[in-house]
Amino acid sequence: MKNIKTECDRCGTCCRKGGPALHIEDMRLLLNGWLKPEHLVTIRKGEPVFLLAGENPEPTRAEIVKIKGKGSEWTCLFFDTIEAGCTIYQHRPLECSLLKCWNTADLENVTGKNLLSRYDMIEPGNPVLPFIKIHEEKCSLENFASQLSGPHNKNLTQKVMTNLTDLVNTDLAIRTQACETFHLSLELELFFFGRPVFKILQQIGIEMHIVNGVCRLSC
Ligand code: SF4
Repeated sequence: MKNIKTECDRCGTCCRKGGPALHIEDMRLLLNGWLKPEHLVTIRKGEPVFLLAGENPEPTRAEIVKIKGKGSEWTCLFFDTIEAGCTIYQHRPLECSLLKCWNTADLENVTGKNLLSRYDMIEPGNPVLPFIKIHEEKCSLENFASQLSGPHNKNLTQKVMTNLTDLVNTDLAIRTQACETFHLSLELELFFFGRPVFKILQQIGIEMHIVNGVCRLSC
């Protein structure tokens, strides 16, 4: 008879697939200092994400703030690859405490519900907020959701490529201005403004090149 798994054997597969999205229940981890904005990355509305059962990325309908990966890897920042364990186990977020790889029902029950957003974590008087507002107005990903999520980037029209180029440039300009004004680290930039648009485009095979100081995109 096939063995049925009933407990975590610490293989680390879940933690290597990426850090958890944060929920209202996780606010206490931020208030107690177990999690800090530097540990987090914002996934903006419209950014393509892999949902639990999905094979292809889909645009997220709500903003997600999640624990970021290590460097350019997906592996959760708090996963100790040598010990194969969580370095904040006693203070791990809701999704981690619910995840059982042999039965994802508990996790599915909370997925996409009561998500924390940046605005729950940023003080109302924080001077970066006006930059975030302008960034959301001028660099919304929702308008490009279908182009960003499909595996059809080779068929993008010249008009869409021009619009995406404008989006990349505006995104870079706003975040550069904010980083220079407030001396933000890369870690805080990823929390305040999410991943740069050119990084999101790389995922669907669109590369950015700088030619004579001008940004160009190619499939
Ligand atoms: S917080 Fe801990 S349990 Fe959760 S994904 Fe990261 S390493 Fe794994």
